[in-house]
Amino acid sequence: MYVILLGLPGAGKGTQAARLKAQTGLAHVTTGELFRENIRRGTELGRKAQPFVESGRLVPDEITIGMLLDRIRQPDCGRGCMLDGFPRNLEQARALDTALAADGKRIDKTVYIRVPTEELVGRLAGRWNCRGCGAVYHEVNQPPRAAGVCDNCGAQLYQREDDKPQVVRTRLQVNVEQLQPLLAHYRGQGKLLEIDGLRDVDAVTEDLGAVLAA
Ligand code: ADP
Ligand code: AMP
Repeated sequence: MYVILLGLPGAGKGTQAARLKAQTGLAHVTTGELFRENIRRGTELGRKAQPFVESGRLVPDEITIGMLLDRIRQPDCGRGCMLDGFPRNLEQARALDTALAADGKRIDKTVYIRVPTEELVGRLAGRWNCRGCGAVYHEVNQPPRAAGVCDNCGAQLYQREDDKPQVVRTRLQVNVEQLQPLLAHYRGQGKLLEIDGLRDVDAVTEDLGAVLAA
């Protein structure tokens, strides 16, 4: 099953994908994390992506699409995967449709996690991520048991540089602009499902599980 989690930055895609991964065994593919990993390792792709990621702009399609298609052809995506952060625009959506079709595959479901923009700034400002296992926390909504330490694996938590308010503004603006055409694309294919991402994390997980099982 190929599932796309759509939603603005901070909507809860990563939080929910981590939970669904444990429930379904589907791989969690996140382009943001692929870029951050390449930047940390200093690869050529990372060097090209870095200025875009740091300023909150979209990395150009000619870099992003190839990276994502390579990733979903890895063996752990053989049964499908959950896409988080991709596609971010119509060109990416069309490239994904074409590439999957060439392999006799297709997107099964697209779930839009709907959260108003006003809520997102506070979610991103309070977000803490785990370096070890990728778990996501929030200093108020979902605090770890010990400040700065991951409950799951004990690794140190960190705050993303691009979660600072100035970059967040650019990220939200860029993503809001691209969202409606993307929603229209998947609505037109009859694949768009929508859930209320303002509910608490457990309630969102339940709703997501229900729409994916339907
Ligand atoms: P995304 O992957 O869509 O950018 P994240 O999953 O990283 O979003 O979540 C962004 C922040 O919001 C994190 O700090 C997370 O703990 C918090 N969060 C996620 N889901 C909820 C929710 N349903 N209610 C309140 N806070 C949430
Ligand atoms: P995210 O972790 O999804 O918030 O993404 C972090 C950053 O990575 C974004 O602000 C972009 O610079 C870049 N990025 C992630 N996914 C994409 C994508 N599909 N297309 C272009 N840039 C992306």
